[in-house]
Amino acid sequence: MALMNANTLLYGARDAIAYHQAIQLPDDVRAAMFQADRDIRARLRKVTRFVIDSGRAMSYASAEYRRAKQEPLQFELRFLRQGSVVYDTVIDPARRPPQQTDLDDGIYARTSFLSDFEPGLAATKYFELVETALAPLCKERGWRLVTNKDTCVRVVIDEKIHIDLPLYAVPDTEFVTLEKCFQDVTGLKLVAGSARLSTVLDGFSDIRIPTDRVMLAHRKKGWISSDPRALHDWFVRECERHGPQLRRTCRYLKGWRDFLFLEGGPASIALMACAVRSYKEGGWVPQNDRDDLAMLEIAKRLPVFFSATIVNPVLPDAEPLNDWDEVTRKRFVNAANDLHGHMHTALEGTANAEITVRRLQEALGTRVPYRPDLVRAFDKTPARAPVAAVVASPLPLRRPTTSA
Ligand SMILES: [Mg+2]
Repeated sequence: MALMNANTLLYGARDAIAYHQAIQLPDDVRAAMFQADRDIRARLRKVTRFVIDSGRAMSYASAEYRRAKQEPLQFELRFLRQGSVVYDTVIDPARRPPQQTDLDDGIYARTSFLSDFEPGLAATKYFELVETALAPLCKERGWRLVTNKDTCVRVVIDEKIHIDLPLYAVPDTEFVTLEKCFQDVTGLKLVAGSARLSTVLDGFSDIRIPTDRVMLAHRKKGWISSDPRALHDWFVRECERHGPQLRRTCRYLKGWRDFLFLEGGPASIALMACAVRSYKEGGWVPQNDRDDLAMLEIAKRLPVFFSATIVNPVLPDAEPLNDWDEVTRKRFVNAANDLHGHMHTALEGTANAEITVRRLQEALGTRVPYRPDLVRAFDKTPARAPVAAVVASPLPLRRPTTSA
């Protein structure tokens, strides 16, 4: 049983700024990120318009498409943000540089398909189009274009922010259906109301392009099946089911990962899947005003989850979310064990508020404020000796490790 209540130290209170506030993305960074993204969208729209108006769309068609079809390639772009900014789990990285805040803006080509899973647009030419369109903008702004990521075009805005642009293709026919549904709901054409698309998709779960019709451009593999919206829907559903604490614990876990691993820690989506599983599997009763206990329960399960396969919650047959080699796995399992050790000592292994704070700082870094006054002790005389040793003097903070 927990002896200490450190919820306020994590979540804060009306009059106390704590860990949760410290890991929020600052407003100016958020604003700069969205402005850069709007500029990227504007440039891409302009260039695509030019391609269409000048009758050059067909030059972006795959060889197969040209051979098989007489009619010109349909081709238009739409944009839909995805990932942590939309799930609302984005946090301010602990260690900058090299860590950066990441915005993922999906670019959707509404295009002709050759068959069910084969866009007429050539994946390589799609990359080419986006990179050629953005190169002058990057030059003007002093941004850096990164063209060696397999599944996106990356634009590094500054040392704090990068924007990833994964490139999708959606069949023209499916788009027409989506557009019609959107218009029925909002009374607007998609082009005019695109700013509301994300909200509309949140509100109407039946307005979807079928998952298996959304194709992602891969630099080496051509087109692969991948629907970010399905993952989004899954996480939003789980947050509705388990309450707002789930989202907060995902932020804390990302904060832990960023603090501990300079680069290359467990993927956010893997951490989110582990958090969700901890809530789903039960064996504890989540209390919305006890983020500290929720973190303890998740930390308890994390080494076991990391040791086995973390299945993609929307594509169970796809690659696991933790496709780690054995050395990496061991490192992550050890880190998870340490997190559990610290959480356990902080909440169940001491009745000293200072030790509670120190242990949480060791686990999550000094963005956990040194505020023993925010920790409440329930019972100063534990009936049983706690499992972990009570350390009388504060230990020096752990130095974050870099990945190999
Ligand atoms: Mg990204």
